[in-house]
This record gives sequence, structure tokens and C-alpha cells, in this order.
Amino acid sequence: MKTVYGLFIDTGSAEEMFWDRGVWATSEACEAYINQVMGHVTGIRIGELKINDAFPAAADEEDGMITCSLCGIDYNEADVNVLDYEEPVCVNCEPEYRQSLDMA
Ligand SMILES: [Zn+2]
Repeated sequence: MKTVYGLFIDTGSAEEMFWDRGVWATSEACEAYINQVMGHVTGIRIGELKINDAFPAAADEEDGMITCSLCGIDYNEADVNVLDYEEPVCVNCEPEYRQSLDMA
């Protein structure tokens, strides 16, 4: 098991986690994401999660590289789109991937 950090929002009656946003290896990285991407959303907080080691993290903080879910190649964070899709998609795969989504 390892500890990661995810986004939670208080809906009033319950607290829900944004699983589709992924998880982060550090609370600092999670906080940076909130500030950059979700700064306009109120009621967001960082929550600690215990997951098994096989769980795919949104970003691998250890080496700063992200593996594209389509071609399996490691890229720098800047070259992988982790926000718009359920899985990380690199810049090389993105055009084709976007096309396949449009056709679906
Ligand atoms: Zn790719």
C-alpha cells in the first residue's frame, strides 16, 4: 500500500472524491493542481488515500515522467495531456486519439 492524495468536494450531505482527476504522490502537487486548474471551485480539499501499488497515479512524481496510456512511452509532464482524458495521452498520440473519440 502507499499513500496518495486526491481531490474531495463537500457536496453538503456527503464528501465525494474526484476520481476522474487522478491522484497525486504529494499533497504539494495536489495543491498546485487545485491552484492551477480548480481555483474557481469552492469546497475542494485534499484528502489522503491508501491505495495499492498498482493503482495508476495521474502523475509519477518520482521521476517527473508520465507514461502515455496509448503508446506506453514515458514523456515529460508537459508533453502528456492528463487533464482532458481519462488516461494520460501524449502529444504524438493525441491527434489520433481525439479523432477516435469523435468517431465514437
Ligand atoms: Zn503516446
